[in-house]
Amino acid sequence: MASAVRLHLSSLLVSHSLLPRLSLRLLPPPPSAAGRPRRFSSALPSAPSAARRASPSPPLRAQAKRGFSSKDDDFASADDLQFEAPLKIVEYPDPGLRANNKRIGTFDDNLRKLADEMFDVMYKTDGIGLSAPQVGINVQLMVFNPIGERGEGEEIVLVNPRIIKYSKKMVSFNEGCLSFPGIYADVQRPEAVKIDSLDISGARFTVSLSGLPARVFQHEFDHLQGIVFSDRMTEQVLDTIRAELEALEKKYEQRTGLPSPERIETRRRRVAVGFGKS
Ligand SMILES: [Zn+2]
Repeated sequence: MASAVRLHLSSLLVSHSLLPRLSLRLLPPPPSAAGRPRRFSSALPSAPSAARRASPSPPLRAQAKRGFSSKDDDFASADDLQFEAPLKIVEYPDPGLRANNKRIGTFDDNLRKLADEMFDVMYKTDGIGLSAPQVGINVQLMVFNPIGERGEGEEIVLVNPRIIKYSKKMVSFNEGCLSFPGIYADVQRPEAVKIDSLDISGARFTVSLSGLPARVFQHEFDHLQGIVFSDRMTEQVLDTIRAELEALEKKYEQRTGLPSPERIETRRRRVAVGFGKS
């Protein structure tokens, strides 16, 4: 599976100096990692990337961009961005994974700290990507490092990202998710995407990804839309993890004393799980 995916960043259209070296050393996973697939939900490392070395700048108000979603004005408040370290992973079927994730309009130290904490969680859990809703913060923020090792690869922070183009070519890949501990199954996704996003300082950039980075990005991007990877599995694939999902639902009920907010048993085909324009 992993070996079937040739990992490389194809045409890289980084127009921003804070992402100077996206030429990641994207190698196939080392043999030692073969038995333990990396999961897509983790956090940002502390290697001093250019973005993180930048001295704190005064809060910057993002300019509303025409053409974004109809929720353009639904920006996160300071309260929405409050967090306590260490961050904890939100697991399925917690309703936080389905909640609306607000856009970010303030680029301050608090946001940088949140991204740092997310990287910490990501590395500790052997992840290569992590979205804010997975740590209980319902905002449009994700971090990833396709290498998954602190100090290696490139730490990438995306704020209010959008996919502006998908490849027609679809590929299957065995995915995991920190919010679904121990569960791995095949998911089909476009092989490449073009992304429009803001970075941690609020600067806009465009980047084209393919291979593993495109895979990680799309998985995390789904989280920002309240979509989880099981939503994208075929019924046949889902059958292979149904018992594990039900076990997570039971665990949630035992922990909270509440009925599970969703059940895989009654899953309806989600119409919203298309991939949009290509
Ligand atoms: Zn995930």
